[in-house]
Amino acid sequence: MTGELPPESDETCVLQAESQPEAESARTVLAAAGIDAVVRGRERPGAGGLFGHRSTVWVQRSAADAARALLRGAGEPDPRGPWECPGCGERLEAQFTECWKCGADRPGT
Ligand SMILES: [Zn+2]
Repeated sequence: MTGELPPESDETCVLQAESQPEAESARTVLAAAGIDAVVRGRERPGAGGLFGHRSTVWVQRSAADAARALLRGAGEPDPRGPWECPGCGERLEAQFTECWKCGADRPGT
């Protein structure tokens, strides 16, 4: 029978991170949104090590668009910089659009 694809082909790469921690944080962002992602090292024998330290993030193909949209948002910290939660006073980094502590939205978003 043809057309039967192995399970791996249902996954697609949504991010090539510069480092393992970057890939892991992307995976965390996706997990928080209910998207299962896996981090893989980019091992390419013969690639000369150019990409040897890169990590890639993979998700199910059906979730790829949502994942990319999420990562685009997460990858660009708000230019306004860190902010203070109006609800509980927690100081939050620029990339957060809501308070992790009390759930309040960032003012002005
Ligand atoms: Zn708060």
